[in-house]
Amino acid sequence: MLLKDRVALVTGGSSGIGLAAAQRLANEGAQVGVLGRSEDEVRSAAKTITDSGGGALPLLADVSKPGELQAAIQEFIDAYGRLDIVFANAGINGVWAPLEDLTPDDWDMTLNVNLKGTFLTLKYAVPYLKAQGGSVIVTSSVNGTRMFSNTGATAYACSKAAQVAFAKMTALELARFRIRVNVICPGAIESKIRDNTERKNLDRVRQRVEFPMGEIPLTDGRPGTPEQVADLVLFLASDLSSHITGTEIWIDGAQSLLQG
Ligand code: NAP
Repeated sequence: MLLKDRVALVTGGSSGIGLAAAQRLANEGAQVGVLGRSEDEVRSAAKTITDSGGGALPLLADVSKPGELQAAIQEFIDAYGRLDIVFANAGINGVWAPLEDLTPDDWDMTLNVNLKGTFLTLKYAVPYLKAQGGSVIVTSSVNGTRMFSNTGATAYACSKAAQVAFAKMTALELARFRIRVNVICPGAIESKIRDNTERKNLDRVRQRVEFPMGEIPLTDGRPGTPEQVADLVLFLASDLSSHITGTEIWIDGAQSLLQG
């Protein structure tokens, strides 16, 4: 048990990468807070974990809404009394469109969930992490860090690029409290995120490398799985990575090296 007695918050824990990570952390002994916007989905995710013998609490909040998020984190702290691990993973693809078609509201929605949501998650979690130290993992992407060929995904890529800067800034700020902050950059991973992408008029701006249909050299084109990302999250959450902080790790089967 790598995470015995640890308490872990997973945002976007009700599906995809977050759900797989929540299950993996719970399997290693952590008590997990599964946070998302849909009550049915967070309850069902937490139940899956408790049914298999792990500890989990469903938490309802939109990460872009300060009041909701602060209340959910407080509820989690009230239940377990401490916080050791934060997986700031909730995110959306948002609207992918040529610049002229991307509205100011489209831009704000993506940045509010992906970037402001990451900031708010850390802001409200950090006072509890400071009590004993801990590990933070942020989910960025290959988009905006090593891949710039998804034309139209500008707001998404900018939000993901900024998450890397955010992780590095906070890694240094929080190091003296023995809080590590790292950022993972997945390539194409099987999840429902693409089904929720709103695409407008992309045919006007591409030359597009369809995501995830482009090549992934390591797997002959097959996307990665949420479980493979969960293994990386476990490594970064645990003491196996005790001297690693302020670092981004790409998990993409070399996709971004080919398609950058
Ligand atoms: P997913 O299956 O759609 O999961 C996203 C999760 O985030 C869901 O639990 C969703 O719950 C939650 N969420 C979205 N907006 C939220 C909000 N405002 N407040 C709280 N929770 C919110 O997608 P995924 O692929 O696992 O994505 C997880 C992360 O990986 C994202 O940050 C994404 O950008 C990143 N990523 C994914 C890929 C990929 O290929 N899958 C590649 C690179 C990076 P509800 O919608 O039910 O609230």
